[in-house]
Amino acid sequence: MSSDRYSFLSVLREALRGQTGWKPAWRKADPQESYDVVIVGGGGHGLATAYYLARRYGIRRVAVVEKSWLGNGNIGRNTTIVRSNYLLAGNVPFYECSMKLWEGLEQDINYNAMVSQRGVLNLFHNDGQRNAYTRRGNAMRLHGVDAQLLDAAAVRRKLPFLDFDNARFPIQGGLLQQRGGTVRHDAVAWGYARAADRLGVDIIENCEVTGMRITDGRVEGVETTRGFIGAKKVGLACAGNSSRVAALAGLRLPIESHVLQAFVTEGLKPFIDCVVTFGAGHFYISQSDKGGLVFGGDIDGYNSYAQRGNMPVVEDVCEGGMALMPRIGRVRMLRQWGGLMDMSMDGSPIIDRTPVDQLYLNAGWCYGGFKATPASGLCFAHLLARDEPHPVATAYRLDRFARGAVIDEKGMGAQPNLH
Ligand SMILES: Cc1cc2nc3c(=O)[nH]c(=O)nc-3n(C[C@H](O)[C@H](O)[C@H](O)COP(=O)(O)OP(=O)(O)OC[C@H]3O[C@@H](n4cnc5c(N)ncnc54)[C@H](O)[C@@H]3O)c2cc1C
Repeated sequence: MSSDRYSFLSVLREALRGQTGWKPAWRKADPQESYDVVIVGGGGHGLATAYYLARRYGIRRVAVVEKSWLGNGNIGRNTTIVRSNYLLAGNVPFYECSMKLWEGLEQDINYNAMVSQRGVLNLFHNDGQRNAYTRRGNAMRLHGVDAQLLDAAAVRRKLPFLDFDNARFPIQGGLLQQRGGTVRHDAVAWGYARAADRLGVDIIENCEVTGMRITDGRVEGVETTRGFIGAKKVGLACAGNSSRVAALAGLRLPIESHVLQAFVTEGLKPFIDCVVTFGAGHFYISQSDKGGLVFGGDIDGYNSYAQRGNMPVVEDVCEGGMALMPRIGRVRMLRQWGGLMDMSMDGSPIIDRTPVDQLYLNAGWCYGGFKATPASGLCFAHLLARDEPHPVATAYRLDRFARGAVIDEKGMGAQPNLH
């Protein structure tokens, strides 16, 4: 076992002995000959899957194979927002399951992930949008999820610096989910990695899957840059690289990869105490615990596997920010980055078997996969262990596009940039 349990006493003990006794959070494992389950992709979803496989389903001969280092994918690049404010019956139970897992995560994995239920507020700017958000809020409450409709005066009391009387996009109110908020993204990767490692899972970094060994329609393991690794079952959790890795098994997925950018400014005194989304453009913002404004917007409008974005989206995001809160124009930008989104054709994910026997798929998370991390891991582990979908993930079938059973949360059709 690589590390002790974290506690007040262990912090005190290390303070007294000059911080010399901490062990690495997880072992640097070398690949074994074979495993019961090999998970491809050491992002949040892959690590959470390994953890729940070991913890809830007792399957411990598990390897997570990561081509890079933990946290180099989207799990370390997202804007940390979690929420369960969904509309459709196929989605709400799944995302609410995730929210409940977030609420108990730090105790469960013994790791400070800075879960902060500071609230997520979606602004509306016209009557039609207010009706749509009222409907969404009612759907949430029918599923037992918290939702509050705020009028313009209530939003003004909360966020007085927004441009309420903007001639084009006056703010009429917002839908608030108070239990939503933020979680420190890379702590989620480290926490799940450490907790899985403590249960015996091998986390193998710098090990790229380059091929699949398939005999008589059944997967037998993965070819990697560190040799062949045998597996009774293989689970793909490769986010933006899903199409490329699935292609190694001869599969073509209903997914396009696009870049999504994010931005952070210099640190400021606290003044935004929740996550805010602009309803008249693609812009959302929150303030990190260090004081930086963290914001983002739309995906770059072309397919790409590069983890960096382009200028037109930078301009578009800044325009959204200026329309919502003109004072943002005075702030200095510190950093900008991009990550690879696995955009599905209806904006909803896939957690399912594939046509290749014993090969399973977890993909299609679009911009929203961080909030899904715990439930995605739990449901994928359930599928891998029991060969049947978890009760909250029964709608996320791979063949739903062929059957016309899409889960089009935004009603936008097969247009990735609109999900
Ligand atoms: C800028 C940005 C902002 C976002 N904001 C939010 C947000 O606020 N809220 C939210 O809910 N979601 C958000 N998301 C989306 C969210 O981050 C992703 O949907 C989610 O992290 C994807 O799951 P993951 O963590 O497993 O992905 P990743 O961390 O990308 O994990 C996939 C892993 O697979 C590995 N891999 C790929 N190919 C191979 C191979 N051949 N062999 C071995 N390993 C391989 C990759 O290296 C990677 O580490 C955002 C994303 C970005 C980029």
